[in-house]
Amino acid sequence: MQLNDKIFGILFGQAIGDALGLAAEGMSREQVAATYPNGVNGYSDIVQDDFRRRWRQGEWTDDTSQMLCILDSLLENRQVVPNDIAERFVQWFRRDGRGIGRHTYDILRMPQYAQQPYEISEFFWKFSRCRSAANGALMRTCITGIWDYPNEAAVYANTERICRLTHFDPRCVGSCVIVAHIIRCELNGVPVSESDLLALGAKYAPEIEEFVQLGFQPDIAKLCLDNPDTRGYTLRTLSAGLWAYNFGTDFRSAIRTLIAAGGDTDTNCAVAGALLGARMGYAALPEDWVQGLLQCGELTEKARRLVEIIVMR
Ligand SMILES: [Mg+2]
Repeated sequence: MQLNDKIFGILFGQAIGDALGLAAEGMSREQVAATYPNGVNGYSDIVQDDFRRRWRQGEWTDDTSQMLCILDSLLENRQVVPNDIAERFVQWFRRDGRGIGRHTYDILRMPQYAQQPYEISEFFWKFSRCRSAANGALMRTCITGIWDYPNEAAVYANTERICRLTHFDPRCVGSCVIVAHIIRCELNGVPVSESDLLALGAKYAPEIEEFVQLGFQPDIAKLCLDNPDTRGYTLRTLSAGLWAYNFGTDFRSAIRTLIAAGGDTDTNCAVAGALLGARMGYAALPEDWVQGLLQCGELTEKARRLVEIIVMR
């Protein structure tokens, strides 16, 4: 498969998963079943309740908007410049900010954030007694697996730096590195093994092991994705992404199954969509879901520029 087909697949897979996953964000499995008795088949199915009508049908949410802050910074600087990415997060937060998670909200609203992102990020993590480990960095990390993909050490270092801009917890960093690792393996045509992911995760936090294993067993119910206490947990989203990557037979049914499971479905599907797109390529994405993205043209243009830079390096 061509490199550009995979890169387009990753970026569009993320955007589609995010825009469609919004349909069930915050719902339990039972609520999803009651709201969508025939499942979610397209953007026009998304119920227009108080939460969801802030987005037009086919619009992606904060997950992809923040991923694009990173991508825009890379397109302009041709290298990872953490303070520039932080500045773009702030600009997005002030201009839009819809769907932002509590943890990221607390950080981005600090007036000195763009000047001292790491200090602020670490402060809020410590303030949470080192408990805060939300999925707000994992949701935007697919791009860090693409940039510098031939260089393993660079991918890991870039991913760590960009994650810690807002999420300091080692469970957040480890989950981002695992997803970036899979994406770079796909781009390099290298197989991904459970043992490699377990070894990688163990470098960051012992809690990661259990959630990697969950993503390598077929029963999605065991992932407890709609658990109201932990549905925004970075490791729960990691297991959702791994499950889709390992057991998704086609893009459409994998995303529909993750939506039906409830929980933080936009983020779970954003991560899963990126990983499925990496594995299957752009040509395997449902055409109606690609064309139905309201900002399809904008994403196409950015993906094209990214591929151009990467191919020329
Ligand atoms: Mg979101």
